[in-house]
Amino acid sequence: MKDTFKHRGMRNRLVDTIASKGITDKKVIEAIRAVPRHMFMDSSFEGHAYQDKAFPIAAGQTISQPYTVAFQTALLEAKAGDKILEIGTGSGYQTAVLLFLKFKVYTIERQLELFKKTSLFFKKMGYRPKKAIFGDGYKGLPEEAPFDGILVTAGAPTIPKALLSQLKIGGRLVIPVGDENQIMTLVTRKSEKEFEKEEFGAFRFVPLLEDKN
Ligand code: SAH
Repeated sequence: MKDTFKHRGMRNRLVDTIASKGITDKKVIEAIRAVPRHMFMDSSFEGHAYQDKAFPIAAGQTISQPYTVAFQTALLEAKAGDKILEIGTGSGYQTAVLLFLKFKVYTIERQLELFKKTSLFFKKMGYRPKKAIFGDGYKGLPEEAPFDGILVTAGAPTIPKALLSQLKIGGRLVIPVGDENQIMTLVTRKSEKEFEKEEFGAFRFVPLLEDKN
């Protein structure tokens, strides 16, 4: 699969769309402009890759809407070299956006089929997360903690305590919270024991599921 002039043209229009919806972070916009989203999708949906919509991927999951990816990435307010944990690798599209921004990315996926498929795809494409892990993101990744940012790409019924404890002081957790619809929530660790919570409107995600084992 190639990234053609036509794809780049469609990405420019996609960027205009998400900017008109309120995304202002220039680096995030450049990441969306750069990452070839069509390559992260099944060929049957490839023609739709530059619509600002979520689409089905393997294992009953979805590739997030570009606006949502941009919104969550901007909320992280991370800088090059920051250590970021992503929960819900899925297609790897959000991972690739984080890598474009030169973050050190750790990513966890609990669906084996997706984990295998996306790990191979990363190798093929030359995307290099620090670690791509098959496991339960509810537990975070204690052996690599603390993180500058944690980004959850599935809807969590509640905020997992393990994730809070794996934030650096000043670190940010971006997590959609709720069952049917989710409220985009930012939790900032102010000190060892203090956390500040801010909310940013309603979104819709596939559910964050606990370990099957
Ligand atoms: N970032 C992805 C979004 C995929 S949808 C993308 O851009 O394509 C959310 C993903 O979270 C799904 O792949 C789902 O399998 C995964 N997920 C759900 N619960 C999880 C958990 N407890 N741990 C890790 N991944 C989980």
